[in-house]
Amino acid sequence: MLIQITDNIFKLVILIPGGMREVNSYLIKGDAGYTVIDTGLYSKEALETWKTVLDSGIVVEKVVLTHTHQDHIGLAKWFQETVNVPIFVAKLGYEEMLKGRKTDARGIKLKELLIKHGGPKFPNHMKDDSFIYDFEPDGFFEENDVLKLGNDRYETIWTPGHAPDHYCFYQREKRVMMVGDHILKNISPVIGLWTGEELNPLKEYYQSLAKIKDYPAEIVLTGHGENDLNLDNRVQEIKERHDYRLKQLLEHVNDQEKTANDLCEEIYDRSTAYSFISPFMATLTRLIYLESIGEIHRREENGKVFFKKMKLEL
Ligand SMILES: [Zn+2]
Repeated sequence: MLIQITDNIFKLVILIPGGMREVNSYLIKGDAGYTVIDTGLYSKEALETWKTVLDSGIVVEKVVLTHTHQDHIGLAKWFQETVNVPIFVAKLGYEEMLKGRKTDARGIKLKELLIKHGGPKFPNHMKDDSFIYDFEPDGFFEENDVLKLGNDRYETIWTPGHAPDHYCFYQREKRVMMVGDHILKNISPVIGLWTGEELNPLKEYYQSLAKIKDYPAEIVLTGHGENDLNLDNRVQEIKERHDYRLKQLLEHVNDQEKTANDLCEEIYDRSTAYSFISPFMATLTRLIYLESIGEIHRREENGKVFFKKMKLEL
């Protein structure tokens, strides 16, 4: 079940039910047991996977999370309460956990955001997963802290964008970088506004992409999919893809007023889109970014937002 990556790092692939998706957990061996990075989604299958691993004699010392999205924090509460393992999250992650406990409030905000931007219809019942956030972590970390993962010292690097509380962990001597969902090999990480707050995550993501370039890495451990990638090249590819998407969107905005959803439908083929809401979120975060750099502006009428290209007045 465990795939050996280095002499002391192992990868555990946890399937997400119902889809083709999977999450990677990593186990770093140390004298006091294994440190687990990310737990996978809360599901029967994931629980079975972890029980099998633990039954094989693996002792878990602690769990550390890259960010608090459901598919990463999902089994942390179970680890704490059932396996008696301490959980470590970023201070910012704890703030996200507090929001996550209020599923209703989160749903209402997201619904409002979608309506405001002409977005896709909101599913009537959002799955209530608030219980996965309902525990008190045992320890917190911040930017530029040093965490002991296994026997090794890892630097914490704050990389907001995919999630506001996202962290990468870096082992300088061994040149190991845990990138979580900041960089993925096969897909570009989704940059969205899942709590319904209108922030500028794409701006943060660009900054976080640049930040990671200061850390030369030979072993890159991603939160999903394969992890044999060249970090520098992949960062460059993802950046160029975003640049291209921004240019494309700007051409579509043009001189006519359009909602985020109008633009999303012009650009994406919804019938093949993996998730109904992801293309919309990608479009909206790009629009917010373009607005912040003065390329487009918005007009609000009857609670709806329309975007238009900025005209150069000479
Ligand atoms: Zn995520």
